[in-house]
Amino acid sequence: MSDSIVTSRRSFLGKSLAVLAAGGAVAACGKKESAGPKSLACNDTSSLAPADAQMRTTLGYVDVSVQQGKACSGCQLYKAAPAEGQCGGCAVLKGTVNPNGYCNSWTPKA
Ligand code: SF4
Repeated sequence: MSDSIVTSRRSFLGKSLAVLAAGGAVAACGKKESAGPKSLACNDTSSLAPADAQMRTTLGYVDVSVQQGKACSGCQLYKAAPAEGQCGGCAVLKGTVNPNGYCNSWTPKA
């Protein structure tokens, strides 16, 4: 086998590994992003009175809003979370709410 073929193969393998490593870094970034606030769970109603848990259902609370431009963090009734990445509260619903959540009582911030 000639030296030029071996060098060419090494060069190809090196470039291929670099591409794979870059792809892995992109994939890792994607995983980190999906573990962000949108995956935050703020819908545990186990400590609530049945009527308070029912109110969340009645108002259609969801942890991730499907209403374009309408999320709890933009709602007048939202009580900010103590720190970024944590659940907040709500003036209407008992229990925690997700800053990305939504319910039918959504009211735009003044
Ligand atoms: S009223 Fe609804 S949309 Fe507004 S903060 Fe409370 S749960 Fe979120």
